[in-house]
Amino acid sequence: MKELTDLDRALYEWQLDVPGFGESGQAKLRNATALVSRAGGLGGPLAFSLAAAGIGKLVIAHAGDLRHDDLNRQILMRHDGIGKPRVESLRATLQAFNPHVEVEAIPENVSDENAARLVEKADIVFGAAPLFEERFALNRECVRQGKPLIDAAMFSLEGQVMPIVPGRTPCLACLYPEIPPHWKRRFPVIGAVSALAANLAAMEGIKLLAGFGEVALNRLIYFDTAMMRFQQIRIQRNPDCAICQSLPSS
Ligand SMILES: [Zn+2]
Repeated sequence: MKELTDLDRALYEWQLDVPGFGESGQAKLRNATALVSRAGGLGGPLAFSLAAAGIGKLVIAHAGDLRHDDLNRQILMRHDGIGKPRVESLRATLQAFNPHVEVEAIPENVSDENAARLVEKADIVFGAAPLFEERFALNRECVRQGKPLIDAAMFSLEGQVMPIVPGRTPCLACLYPEIPPHWKRRFPVIGAVSALAANLAAMEGIKLLAGFGEVALNRLIYFDTAMMRFQQIRIQRNPDCAICQSLPSS
């Protein structure tokens, strides 16, 4: 494991005082690689917070060219990037913000074809994709490779975050055996709501990597900003889950 440098200590000084985190937590973050699936309204602020916290490497999968209608929430993007690949904006923004974090930006969205290759690159995976097909592909691959997945999602004024540790917690397919009916690609979103879900997910991942605090294992974190209601819902593994059934419980 790489030791912290004096520059690391200077950069992250304000968080080294967080109880339970300290130099050992920072060193664990500095040695970790995180995959973020899509860097839109949710994955963008999530990647930003991981870069601010001093993660070692970010692998970000996000396809397509930037459009005007991305900019109410995709905070890694910049107006002068409209019409150009989104990965260019997100790489430039993250590298300008924290050049000490390695960024690998891949112009692909997660699919059944590339999920194994992408998940292999990371110690932890953050699922921030809008489509269940992508979330399921990540979930399947994280269960197969035994890697933690923080699944985050939002719709309109609501959001949810579910930390998944294969064998210890339910997987995404325990909760959703199939794609819920009527799920649409395009949904209402205010950037502050997707960023809230993003930062809850980032914090769960940071705690899991650095080994402090209490991660919401076997719980679904749910919020509704219309009423500012926050709750945690207990969840259990589905013994008949098609994805994680064969894993022993621990
Ligand atoms: Zn499962």
